[in-house]
Amino acid sequence: MEQRLVELQQEALEGIKKATDLKELNDIRVSYLGKKGPITEVLKGMGKLSAEERPKMGALANEVRDVIAQAIEEKQSILEEEAVAKKLASETIDVTLPGRQVKTGNHHPLTRIIEEIEDLFIGMGYTIAEGPEVESDYYNFEALNLPKGHPARDMQDSFYITEELLLRTHTSPMQARTMEKQNGKGPVKIICPGKVYRRDNDDATHSHQFMQIEGLVVDENIQMSDLKGTLDVFAKKMFGEDREIRLRPSFFPFTEPSVEMDISCKICSGKGCNVCKGTGWIEVLGAGMVHPNVLEMAGYDSKKYTGFAFGIGSERIAMLKYGIDDIRHYYTNDVRFLKQFSIHE
Ligand SMILES: [Zn+2]
Repeated sequence: MEQRLVELQQEALEGIKKATDLKELNDIRVSYLGKKGPITEVLKGMGKLSAEERPKMGALANEVRDVIAQAIEEKQSILEEEAVAKKLASETIDVTLPGRQVKTGNHHPLTRIIEEIEDLFIGMGYTIAEGPEVESDYYNFEALNLPKGHPARDMQDSFYITEELLLRTHTSPMQARTMEKQNGKGPVKIICPGKVYRRDNDDATHSHQFMQIEGLVVDENIQMSDLKGTLDVFAKKMFGEDREIRLRPSFFPFTEPSVEMDISCKICSGKGCNVCKGTGWIEVLGAGMVHPNVLEMAGYDSKKYTGFAFGIGSERIAMLKYGIDDIRHYYTNDVRFLKQFSIHE
């Protein structure tokens, strides 16, 4: 029996030494120290021993059990430490590795132009007014001196929703809406950026949907020279201090007199080239003095109050500023086009 106990201790210690993980070690614990283990088996045979031998054997069995238990405990702490070390090694962060670049989007070129124009006018004391894209026939046409049956309505083939509702064809309805709210009092100084819609076939210079920025100033003693000065500041800030502007007579039903503003061609400095079609000038926007009928309809005394208005095509400004040759680029979402306007690269 003594021999058997010594052998068991030997076997167990060797097994413990070889164990490579905690599961293996636990199996050894169960098989040697468990209730069905060999040591228990040996002790069951103690009844056959003499009274002298019994305590001696009991003490030896307990000693063997203690030795095995202690060996398991020591090995367990070693294996646990190893496991922690292994886990730490696998989770180590190499701070010297280069980071992955985060992909960021950027503002659409039209958004950039609109924000630039907004900043420019806010700096001159204007506020931003926004209005509905689905507009009533009254604000889109009638309040702007375009009564039903007016021949100028033919100029704007429109998307009608009902007889009285349509997608606005310009941002000018905001002139009428803003003036109406003022109850015939000045001053009014707004710009109104927004989407407008016309029944055009899309090509390099036309789009059925585009962006406009309407400007309106109404007060006592507003003159044509105020309009010219404002447009001059706008042209120089947007296209360079060396740009010149000129105003040509034009016609819009809601302004009188009406003008088209040109800027001197940057490419040829006014000498004439392909871009300016040999004229030295490039057409930029339409403007004029608010028509007395429009003022009166909005509740203003047109003998006391005068005003000017202008309509900026955001696409056209961005085309001229960035050298974009096709309006469709803005709306086809080609990343190669849009990426060129990123401020991050
Ligand atoms: Zn030119």
